This record gives sequence, structure tokens and C-alpha cells, in this order.
Amino acid sequence: MHTPLTLALSKGRIFNDTLPLLKSAGIVVLEDPESSRKLILPTSNSALRIIVVRASDVPTYVQYGAADIGVAGKDVLIEHGGVGLYQPIDLQIAACRMSVAVAQGFDYPRAVRRGSRLRVATKYVEIARNHFASKGVHVDLIKLYGSMELAPLVGLADAIVDLISTGSTLRANNLVEVEQIMAISSRLIVNQAALKLKREVLQPILAAFERASS
Ligand code: ATP
Ligand code: MG
Repeated sequence: MHTPLTLALSKGRIFNDTLPLLKSAGIVVLEDPESSRKLILPTSNSALRIIVVRASDVPTYVQYGAADIGVAGKDVLIEHGGVGLYQPIDLQIAACRMSVAVAQGFDYPRAVRRGSRLRVATKYVEIARNHFASKGVHVDLIKLYGSMELAPLVGLADAIVDLISTGSTLRANNLVEVEQIMAISSRLIVNQAALKLKREVLQPILAAFERASS
């Protein structure tokens, strides 16, 4: 008997988009994380269980081997740094983009040209720092944990760096997307030790995910 494999997922978009991939591997999740308070969910395959964690915590659980595999956005993986993780498959789920947005009427091209400092509020400080450094723009980064859209409206920042899919939240708050930084989708991540030690149990699941996402 093996100890079961543990898959770390976050609730919402990533969980919902991963269900069809599991299905294609013949695996059904036996409880709904939206209605259940359980944090460990059994599946139809007794060799696989799911843990439900914050999106930004998924790489940490996998890095330390508390989960063998996980699904995490490229945004989260860049911010985490990817230490101890294999990232074998772009699952092409939870697709969106990382962009710069400003209040309507703010002259972004001029602000960036001027050579003065731009105040940027974001949850994604690594991505923002790298982006503006590569453009040679000086920025003061202000770390936020959510509702970035508010920052330019109340004078906390000139610009935000945030995930955008439809742009409806930006529009509702009179913000405009002025620059795309990168396309974002979610990847399967695998603990490096588990890949070697649990190869036999992992392989069929990796293969099914690979098939379902290509
Ligand atoms: P936490 O709740 O831990 O703070 P979060 O709010 O970023 O994290 P979600 O909103 O569930 O978590 O997003 C999880 C992942 O889904 C993100 O890391 C990103 O890769 C992707 N994602 C986020 N927003 C969108 C979006 N608007 N459209 C598509 N995918 C998105
Ligand atoms: Mg959230």
C-alpha cells in the first residue's frame, strides 16, 4: 500500500478548471469545496486526495512535499520563485493576462517617459519590479493583498499591476489597461523528490493531464 498522492488546488477558477482534467484521468472529486468545509477531499481514486489551499500557498505545499503535485498560475509561480518545483505541463487553464492599468485620463506614456518615479500598487511585486526594471522606469512599489483597482482612485498609486481577463472590473472603476506584461495560465507543478520516489503512481496522472491539455 502506498500513501495516497496529494494534489493541492485553490478554490474557484483553478479547482473548476482542473475537474475536467481529473475526469479525463478517470478521477472524480467526491466533495464540493464550495459547500464542504473540509480541507482534504477524497476522490474516486483511493490513491489520490485533494487539499484545498490559498492560490498563493499551492507552491509552498508542493515545495515542502506536503502535497506531491499542485496547480498554480504563472503569476503565483513567478512570485514564489519556483524553488523545489518541477513545472512539466502548461495546463492552459485559468487564462488571463498581467497588465498595467491607470485611472482614465492619467497620461501613462508621459509619466513613464519623464524619468520621475511612478508609484505602482500591486500584489505581484516580483513581476512588477522586473517589468519596470526592464523598461528602465523607476518605481515605488506598494504591496497590496487585494482590490488593487482602488489604489489609483484614492491616490495611493499612479498605476496598478494586476490580472485582467474580461476587463469588466477595470471598466466599472474607470481604469484603463495601458500595457500588457505577460500572458498567464496555470501549470501543473510537481515536488522534485516525489517525481523520483513516486514516479510509478505519478506517471499515469501526469500522462492524463498532458493528454487533456494538449
Ligand atoms: P488568494 O485568494 O490566495 O489571494 P487569488 O485571489 O489570486 O489568491 P484566485 O482569484 O482564485 O486567487 O486566482 C487564482 C489564479 O487564477 C491566479 O493566480 C491566476 O493565475 C488565475 N486568475 C486570477 N484572476 C483571473 C482572471 N480574472 N481570469 C482568469 N484567471 C485568473
Ligand atoms: Mg481570491
